Amino acid sequence: MIPTVLPTYNRAPIAFVKGEGSWLTAEDGTRYLDLGSGIAVNALGHANPALVATLTEQAGRLWHVSNVYRVPEQERLADLLVAKTFADTVFFTNSGTETAELAIKMARKYWYEKGEADRIEILTFEGAFHGRSTGAIAAAGSEKMVKGFGPLMPGFRQLPWGDIAAFEAAIGPKTAAVMVEPIQGEGGIRVMPDADLRRIREACDRTGALLIMDEVQCGVGRTGRLFAHEWAGVTPDIMMVAKGIGGGFPLGAVLATEKAASGMTPGTHGSTYGGNPLGCAVGAKVLEIISEPDFLAEVGRKAGLLRQRLEALVASHPDVFEGVRGQGLMIGLKCRVAPADLVTAGYAEHILTVAAADNTLRLLPPLTISDAEIAEAAGRLEAAAARIEQSLSSSQ
Ligand SMILES: *Cc1c(COP(=O)(O)O)cnc(C)c1O
Repeated sequence: MIPTVLPTYNRAPIAFVKGEGSWLTAEDGTRYLDLGSGIAVNALGHANPALVATLTEQAGRLWHVSNVYRVPEQERLADLLVAKTFADTVFFTNSGTETAELAIKMARKYWYEKGEADRIEILTFEGAFHGRSTGAIAAAGSEKMVKGFGPLMPGFRQLPWGDIAAFEAAIGPKTAAVMVEPIQGEGGIRVMPDADLRRIREACDRTGALLIMDEVQCGVGRTGRLFAHEWAGVTPDIMMVAKGIGGGFPLGAVLATEKAASGMTPGTHGSTYGGNPLGCAVGAKVLEIISEPDFLAEVGRKAGLLRQRLEALVASHPDVFEGVRGQGLMIGLKCRVAPADLVTAGYAEHILTVAAADNTLRLLPPLTISDAEIAEAAGRLEAAAARIEQSLSSSQ
């Protein structure tokens, strides 16, 4: 019999009842060190006191009003995002997937208004993840996500990852936009080199194609800059943001330049929940905290500390790990074993990690993780790796 909850996930048999900072407490009282943060969502840890205060204050006042009215909380968060980024304007969503939908629509509408309605090609990259809507799966194009769900939305073309020459050969007068994650998350914490990101920007400038960056996972302070593309010194025309921006409240945002957004006039897009006062009040608090230069510097310092520990871990367990990659507190451990086995071994050591593609174990701790918790995490990962080694040697 089908479970009452649609069985689309392979769930671990653990349920949590409480969270505090970097820790989650399970039903049986066991405390787990959380290096997954609900997939880069709980950027400020669980039950962050400042966010709880903001949420409860707003909850006692006003949760939801329709977008047929002005929403001051939304205007405030939009003002903040515009002040701190390349963007001139912002649309709020409830998820990352919805930001992909709007980014695609915005790019198509831009060319339509320029009299090039058939300029619909959007270039994406292999290993990409942009969400689970019909548009977003067509964009990423991976067999695993699209099989059985056709016919797919036309216009997307996936290019090989790490082959910038192939990209430069592919972009042309029919390219409406390029959609890229500066760091692939689901794809295995694969960092697009700064030089490649700059060449993508240059190619977009040359052809007029809009550059859409998907910073749903790598954005909002995760890399030690407010947004990951800042490291490369280039800006997108459209940026997708979600996950960390709500600190756990479902919230996403599409940021755009005035030019890229020029086709999005009244009536061309909308959302019932998107940008509701509750979500935007929390989002503004998250952004205020994370965008502080001192906070971002701390992310960088702690990332260095964790990185050092992980390099040592990899060196001492060469049969389990191949290397460390990523940027800031978005870290991938390339494995020689199935990452899912390491996730399971982690449960036994009471540490939470996340598997990703390309045989990678993902570490996305709360940005507020302490030095002591980093040391604790390294110890527990060490113990998890030792468990794997034991099973390797006993199976020989
Ligand atoms: C998670 C993710 C999405 C989709 O976000 P949802 O909130 O799950 O819809 C899109 N792009 C990237 C890079 C992501 O990591």
